[in-house]
Formats: sequence, C-alpha cells, structure tokens
Amino acid sequence: MVKRRSGLPSRKDLEKEIGKYLADKYGEQIKIMSVFPAPDPAQDDSQETPSSPPAGARIFNFQVKPEELIAYLDEYVIRQDKAKAVLATKICTHFNRIRYAAEQGRLDRNGLGQVKSNVLLMGSTGVGKTFLIKLIAHKLGVPFVKGDATKFSETGYVGRDVEDLVRDLVREAQGDINRAQFGIIYVDEIDKIASSQDRVTHDVSRTGVQRALLKPMEETDVDLKVPHDPISQLEAIEYYRVHGEREKRTVNTRNILFIMSGAFTGLEEIVKKRVGRQSIGFESTVFSKKDEALFLTQAKAEDLIQYGFESEFVGRLPVITVLDELTEDDLYRILKNPNNSVVIGKKQDFRAYGIKLIFEDEALQEIAALAVKEKTGARGLVSVMERCLLPYEKKLPSSSFNFLVVSREMVIESEAELVKLQADPAQNEFHRHRLEILEGEELERFVEFLRESRADCFLRAEITATPERLRIMARMCQTDNLDSNDACQMLVELIGYIRACEVKFSTDELLIAFDEKAVDGILDSLPGSREDVLLICERVFKVCEPGLRLMSQKKGVHEVIITVEAIADPEKFINKLVKTSFVV
Ligand code: ADP
Repeated sequence: MVKRRSGLPSRKDLEKEIGKYLADKYGEQIKIMSVFPAPDPAQDDSQETPSSPPAGARIFNFQVKPEELIAYLDEYVIRQDKAKAVLATKICTHFNRIRYAAEQGRLDRNGLGQVKSNVLLMGSTGVGKTFLIKLIAHKLGVPFVKGDATKFSETGYVGRDVEDLVRDLVREAQGDINRAQFGIIYVDEIDKIASSQDRVTHDVSRTGVQRALLKPMEETDVDLKVPHDPISQLEAIEYYRVHGEREKRTVNTRNILFIMSGAFTGLEEIVKKRVGRQSIGFESTVFSKKDEALFLTQAKAEDLIQYGFESEFVGRLPVITVLDELTEDDLYRILKNPNNSVVIGKKQDFRAYGIKLIFEDEALQEIAALAVKEKTGARGLVSVMERCLLPYEKKLPSSSFNFLVVSREMVIESEAELVKLQADPAQNEFHRHRLEILEGEELERFVEFLRESRADCFLRAEITATPERLRIMARMCQTDNLDSNDACQMLVELIGYIRACEVKFSTDELLIAFDEKAVDGILDSLPGSREDVLLICERVFKVCEPGLRLMSQKKGVHEVIITVEAIADPEKFINKLVKTSFVV
C-alpha cells in the first residue's frame, strides 16, 4: 500500500483496503461507496493531485479584464449592455484587487475599511439577472450560490438563515473553504424584504433579515457548524474526543461578493416623485411606459430607503444597475443565438431518442410572439417551447421518425399538426430537403458567430483560428449541440491530444510532427475523444512506421512532417516520401 509522507495511508488507499477486506470476506455483493465525509482540501492533504495549484490560486492568478468578460457575456446574453458593463467591470475589479493584494503579500488586510463592490440588480423576471451572474462565476471559476430573500429568517430563528448561504458556498466549492471565501452569493427577491411593502406573505421580520445580511455582506466569520444541527454537534464532539480541543472551521466573508436582485415594483414611482420635486412643471408631464422604466435607472440610495430598506443595508450595495425588459424581437434573437440553452436543450431532448430537431425561422418568430405575451421574459420561451413540442416529444420516440422540421403551424396548432403527421408518416420524408437546407443555413450562422467571437479562446491556447477550424467547431456545435465555448474547449483539447501523439510516436532518432493542415484533417473526422484521436494517429503511424524507420536508418532522416495527405491515404504518403528521400 502506498504510504503518504506522514506514514499514514491516504483516504483512497484506506477505502480501497477496506473495500478489499469486505469483498474477500463477503464476496462481490458488498460494495463500499465511501467511509469518509466529503474531503476538505483545506485540511486534507490526501488530494490525488499533489501538483494541483493551492486553493484560491485561480483568484490569485486572476487576469481577466472587464472587456474580455463583456465579450464572453455577449456570446450568451442578448441586450442588457449596461448591466453587462457594470457587472463585468465591478466584478473584475473586485477579483483583480484580491489578486493584487495577494501579490503584495497583504491579502489578510485586503479591503479593510473599504466598501465591497456588492451589487444591486433590478429587473423583472426572466430578463437575465441570474444568468449573467452564473456566467460570470463560471468564466471566473468561482463558486456561486443563489438564495431567495423571502426564505430567510433572522439568525437564530427557525428557518433558513442567511449564514446558511455561506455554508452552501463551501459545499459548492467541494468543501474547499479557501475557494468559498472568494465566491459569489446571489440573493433574489430582495425587494420583498423592504419593510414598507405590506404584503403579508411571510411571517418574517423584514428589517430583521436586512440586519442579518449586514455582517456577512461586509465581513464576518461564519461557523461551518450549525448550532441546531445534531450531526454538526456529533462531529464536534468526535473532533474534541480525538484532538482534545475544539475544531475551528470558519469562513470569512470579506472577499465574498454579494449580488442582490429583485423586480422593485413601485420604486419608479418613488424616483418619479423625487425627480418631480426637483424640477418645476414636471408633475404635469405625461410619461410613457418606457419613460417610467427610465426612472428606475435613476434610483438613488434615498429612494431605496424610502422603499423600505435600512440605510446601513443600502450602504453596503454601492453598485446599482437596471436590466431592460425584453421585447418580442429580443426573444427571437435569443432563440437565434447559437448559444441559447432553450433551443440547444430541446434539440438534446429529441436527440436522446435519435431524432434530429430543426426549426423553421417562422416557427421561432411565432414562439417569440407567444412568449412575450406570458410576461415572464425569456422564461416564457421555455414554457411555449414545452407546450408546443410536448405532444411530439411524447409520440415520436415510438415512431420511425428520425428528424422533425418544426413549422409555424406546429407551434400554433401543435396537436392538430401532430395528428396530420401521424396519419401520413411518409409525408415527413418530403421535409427532408428542408432539413438539409436549414442545417446548411444553421452551419453558416454558427461559423459566422464563431468567427466573431473565438479570438480569445484560440489566443489563450496559442492556436491559429483557421477557417477550417471554425467550420469544424461549427459542426461540433451542430452535431453535438455544444455551445461555442464548450466546442472551443473541446477543439483545444483534441489538438492537445494530437500534439501528445506526436511525442508518443517520436523517438530519439526521429521526430514526427503533423503540419497544421494534417491536424485539421484529423479534426475533420470529428473525433469525440482522446481515444478517437489516438486511433486515427495510430492508424497513420502503423502504415508509415516501416518507411520512416528505413528513412531514418538508411538516409539519416531525423525529422518528418506528416501532411494532410497521410491522414487520407497513409500508404500513398509514405511511399512518395520514401521514394523522394532515396532519390535525393
Ligand atoms: P431572472 O432575471 O429572473 O434571474 P434568469 O436570468 O434566470 O432570469 O433567466 C432565465 C433563463 O432565460 C436564463 O437561464 C436564460 O436561458 C434565459 N435568458 C434570460 N434573459 C436572457 C437574455 N437577456 N439573453 C439570453 N437569454 C436570456
């Protein structure tokens, strides 16, 4: 058994040994899942990757600039330019400041006495508030949790406690306290804890919850042990029994960013009155709905206080931004965006049954038109999509259909169109040419989208963005229903595997390298995994190997560049190469 530095076996080794003992004693019917709680990398040094960077290192290496983050958000989120700019800038600055403090060796004093850039997001449901923050957390690689302000009670009362969110962050960071300390906490429906809102929906003291949020929003140490949780208590007793002292596991919230969000219905009236008091003749002016929305963008701390927030609470939210309402055209643009999860998700649902799904443009327009009536922003797209495609999702898997071209009629008269289709399944074949045309158009759209947005991904991986590669990625998006960033990451990984194959097949005497076109040739066959790449390279190398050896031994060749010809016809390639080297 492998012993660790301390002389004790690692968690994994121990589990393996116990598993082996049980299997010897009781046979294969007994399997051990895990005998240990989830690891806490902050304390447990048994991690399998001793060379992995220390916890929090991603933050300390933080290099993302606001414009790079905005460009990333633009790939997913339609509209909301103001919110994108404010969020990307303030969140980037927050983490760059942490990085800078770490470089200066004064991380423990970072932000002392300063107001953190906690953000208040205003906007109706389904306009992209959560989506933006989730994307940012994903891009920055920081843990993210979301809670609902109406579910909180004051600390110490029965019910969910604000500090539970901090504990959730640790769970989200797989127990890594250090990572959790640089996470993002998102609290939705914050407008519902404003005290002047007298809707008697929840038996919570609203100002009490605001007060409970004050400390975590600034800085506090949150104990990971929950006082009223018996399991925590037992663990604490056990720790005391073994170590003879109390275990201290706390999360400091100084560097945790808080994002609060809500619709803030009625706040525009308060702003309007204030602005009105300040400008003569204003109250007689008639405002359009668009103007009304503009008042929200002018909201100040004093308006929020009048709305029912404590001044200390407002003071901890120095950044305020308002998200736009989404119009029918915005919803249509969301559906047309190659990265939109609504269409990708639905395609994946049907693909699970071996059915290709593609939408006529008019069908998407109709979905957007129906969705805007739901008044739930982009969420309406999901419900309309589900409503009209559910009958097809139910019936087609047990039919011989392997594709479906969704027409406008299918969106409007979902059931009736399905009946027609079922009555004459052969009719569907007539749509096959539409499928091909639509797929061709979709591919071109993906290529165009990737051409505009991919520079960054390739730049970081030091890979040339050739037109062939963009086309290959677009095909990955189309066939595997990947979003642009996942496809890019996959392509970068596959290129890495190809380069690893060069090393594998090279010897001290003979260096082998694929030229860029050969790399594209391998990628063009859309390998899905490292194994696929290896198979293709092995096939080429197996055919070429005797010829290459001959050239190395007899002609002293030390380096061979494998061209795209070798990928298509390795035999022809090597014969030609050997012939030329012997003639020269
Ligand atoms: P909320 O504003 O209520 O937090 P979400 O951000 O959760 O709404 O939006 C729900 C879903 O709708 C998102 O996961 C996303 O797929 C889609 N969505 C919302 N707004 C946009 C937008 N502006 N652009 C693209 N997709 C959006």
